[in-house]
Amino acid sequence: MEKEFICISSKQKVANDRSAVVFPCPGCGEQIVRSKTARMLASPYKCQKCGFEGPN
Ligand SMILES: [Zn+2]
Repeated sequence: MEKEFICISSKQKVANDRSAVVFPCPGCGEQIVRSKTARMLASPYKCQKCGFEGPN
């Protein structure tokens, strides 16, 4: 069973989004998922674990 990825910005599943990115939070290493749409819109995100805010 594949792991489900949910975009942290849009809360949308990104299973079919090949341009989605998964990376560790710069603050705590928690997995962060961003969809292609979120990246294109430069949607801000906030780590739910440590409160780190991006996109940078
Ligand atoms: Zn974090």
